[in-house]
Amino acid sequence: MDKHGIKDIIILGGGTAGWMTANLMAKRWGNGQVNITLVESPDIGIIGVGEGSTPKLKDFFDTLGIEESEWMPECNATYKNGITFKDWSTIPGFDEYFHPFGCTIDVLTFKLFKANVVLRRKGIDVYAHPNRFFLMASLSDKKLAPIAHENFPFQFDYAYHFDSVLVGKFLQKRAMANGVKHIEGTVKDVQLHENGDIASITLADNQSLSADFFVDCTGFASVLLQRTLKVAFRSFSENLFNDAAVAMPTPITANIPSQTISTALANGWVWEIPLTNRFGHGYVYSSSHCSADEAETELRTRLGLLDSDVEARHIGMRVGRVDKCWVKNCVSIGLSQGFIEPLEATALQFVHTTIEEFMGAFEFGGFSNEHQDSFNQRINLNFEGIRDYIVLHYKTNSRNDSEYWRENRENTHISSNLQSMLDCWYEVHSLEEELQRLKIGNYYTTISWNCLLAGMGLFAPQDQLTAPDDRVMQADLDYVDDFVARCTMNFDAHEKVLARYQK
Ligand SMILES: Cc1cc2nc3c(=O)[nH]c(=O)nc-3n(C[C@H](O)[C@H](O)[C@H](O)COP(=O)(O)OP(=O)(O)OC[C@H]3O[C@@H](n4cnc5c(N)ncnc54)[C@H](O)[C@@H]3O)c2cc1C
Repeated sequence: MDKHGIKDIIILGGGTAGWMTANLMAKRWGNGQVNITLVESPDIGIIGVGEGSTPKLKDFFDTLGIEESEWMPECNATYKNGITFKDWSTIPGFDEYFHPFGCTIDVLTFKLFKANVVLRRKGIDVYAHPNRFFLMASLSDKKLAPIAHENFPFQFDYAYHFDSVLVGKFLQKRAMANGVKHIEGTVKDVQLHENGDIASITLADNQSLSADFFVDCTGFASVLLQRTLKVAFRSFSENLFNDAAVAMPTPITANIPSQTISTALANGWVWEIPLTNRFGHGYVYSSSHCSADEAETELRTRLGLLDSDVEARHIGMRVGRVDKCWVKNCVSIGLSQGFIEPLEATALQFVHTTIEEFMGAFEFGGFSNEHQDSFNQRINLNFEGIRDYIVLHYKTNSRNDSEYWRENRENTHISSNLQSMLDCWYEVHSLEEELQRLKIGNYYTTISWNCLLAGMGLFAPQDQLTAPDDRVMQADLDYVDDFVARCTMNFDAHEKVLARYQK
């Protein structure tokens, strides 16, 4: 680090993004190489939502060497095998499907699933719903944790649900134990050097703090990158209509589920996320299609809370990304760099990816434009790759109960990559080859694309399918069922696994 002349780094913002950054930077650049200070406003607070994750969060805790038994009970965390999408499709037999995280054993069953999917795309009446083919769908169905017995030697990608406020507190403790300094104060002014770099920040109590490098983790406010350095924000509102959410909890039930459920409602969708002490629910909707009051009433009705005094939290969302997230001596991480709505719970994955990519690029090239530019480009492509997969959920819906769903389906503002993937599906070309050609297979894999497109039932209508004759090589479903059932026997009840961590 010294070779780049960096001695002091200020991370502005103490939400999950700020404390994740503090921990990863302290691990890689601590040991006296740099002084890391995290400054956060006690008055503004954190967004305090974000309870679902992707397997990248497991990588994060693994990188820091933090055991599940250490952090999960402190954060009321549970395991997540994937997401069930309910009521996004009205096609008979496809009213719900499961989007699994991967496991090495899928190699076997995915081949069989894909073979049937291709046949059905060609108009042959074979079974092509994803759930039956994936072990993690079976684990979710039976409320099992994705922790295999020792004699079942396969790799699993799984994720977690957690209380985001408690995760922040846990990470704060950890970062401070590893030398990160913590200052409370609200930034009221930012001073620049002549070359436009940030020189210092001034807090409300007039304390001035200078540093060589600044990390903007101030959430949607983006105090440094957008407000001070005037970096432009590109809205995704033409692609993704949702811009608000209303959230409220209900008590947890026995046999805690090990999946997120995302159910489509009249003007958006609602998450159901199980923690050890409660369910979190949040209706993510488009404020152009329904008011906050209407959304809250719809959610309360669904949860049986119409006459209850359980408080509802209303949250605005700014969906899009900044033009460049590293500019001058400032990188923005978390909601300050952009946000794609929470349908696939990808925000903390962005946080981790951005920090890792930034530290790599920075160590390699310091302030050289070459590495800054390629870093910014990679992060932007990441945003767009993930955005397109999220848009696909809306574009392929078949609901007719509101203008919201019809407009989503008819929306022509989709990227050329997404259009190519849809053309590829309907023209029955290889999805793998198209993902490779477009270089987008690292955002969502062919398993994800097949699960979504098949799970939504995007095949010819049932009465136009032809019965398979003897020459059709279709998957042996009895074999698949037996194989998945035998694999499932290697896992324990979710609740039993969580109980092991309780002190
Ligand atoms: C409805 C909704 C649902 C979501 N669901 C998920 C999910 O399931 N999974 C997921 O991964 N993500 C989810 N997210 C995103 C997730 O909440 C965020 O990515 C995560 O919480 C990180 O937020 P942050 O740290 O960037 O911002 P924040 O939590 O908003 O933190 C901002 C920090 O900056 C500080 N600050 C701001 N201004 C100043 C100032 N002037 N001076 C000093 N300090 C300042 C604040 O005090 C605070 O500490 C969701 C988001 C929304 C809106």
